[in-house]
Amino acid sequence: MSEPTTGPETLLSVRDLRAYFDTDDGVVRAVDGVSFEVRRGEVFAVVGESGSGKSVTATTVMGLQPTVRIASGEVLWKGRDLLQLPESEHGRIRGKEIAMIFQDPLTALNPVHTVGRQIGEMARIHEGASRKEAMRRAVEMLDLVGIPEAAKRARMYPHEFSGGMRQRAMIAMAITCRPELLIADEPTTALDVTVQAQVLDVLMRIKDEIDSAIMLITHDLGVVAGLADRVMVMYAGRAVETGTAPQLFSDSRHPYTLGLLAGLPRLEGPRDEPLVPIPGMPPSLINVPPGCAFHPRCSFERADGLCRRSTPELRQATAADHRSACHQLEALDGVTVESVRRAGAGR
Ligand code: SF4
Repeated sequence: MSEPTTGPETLLSVRDLRAYFDTDDGVVRAVDGVSFEVRRGEVFAVVGESGSGKSVTATTVMGLQPTVRIASGEVLWKGRDLLQLPESEHGRIRGKEIAMIFQDPLTALNPVHTVGRQIGEMARIHEGASRKEAMRRAVEMLDLVGIPEAAKRARMYPHEFSGGMRQRAMIAMAITCRPELLIADEPTTALDVTVQAQVLDVLMRIKDEIDSAIMLITHDLGVVAGLADRVMVMYAGRAVETGTAPQLFSDSRHPYTLGLLAGLPRLEGPRDEPLVPIPGMPPSLINVPPGCAFHPRCSFERADGLCRRSTPELRQATAADHRSACHQLEALDGVTVESVRRAGAGR
């Protein structure tokens, strides 16, 4: 991935974002110097374990982190820095030009209003639609996301919907004003596998229908396979590898990405093949290990101590748009997911 730009294809350009939380226990460095861009019409995936900073990155872009301290950075939306806008102006963009789909629709939807009213509210707030027009739009949107008997369902309450239908209703709400960017934060985590696939199908179909870009936030690299155009992998608040989906899936040059890939179930593997997770846990963002934050879990750590002393910066890996933050980048040439899996299984 090249340095973020603000060319005509760039919708969102985030530069050196540092988003911290000041707590009694110390400073939580949730996002610590992240740069990326989202281009018109693409699916850009942000992947990492919980605590990697991916969700804070998304909610900071949306202006939905009231307690965050922005230590540095810019969040340029079509060239304007959202971090510098008054809340009223940021609120106008939020929902209309950039909309978010949350992980848990049950807490995001208001239990005391009908689903149709909540979806229509977007058209009332952002476009001044009448009540009648708002309800018409809500039915249209529910229909668009594949909810049968949309007119009848629009008059129902969230608790009367199944989990998968609630998530579709959330998507309907997010797309009411046809935003140019949809940020989907773990949109399928709470759903079972079959419903997950259906909801992702809906999301991709809608993307084409309303011609929006999607920033897909997930802990599961498997979810983004076949969906994402470009991927950014985050660890401990930093981007550790960025590139096109084929670059990351077929030619990763970062031990963390390779570890995530090795931990995915294989389609062609035996049914009872054990999964090989990355050993250890992600670090506390208050006490991030020095040097490369991944070193306590990394089986490629250098013997000369460099990984513990110096924080690796992103640099070119296999192509100009493929970058990895690893001191062993060159040594990883030829390392495959399969070899990482075999080594992990033998631990
Ligand atoms: Fe592993 Fe060192 Fe690369 Fe970090 S910099 S991922 S510790 S090899």
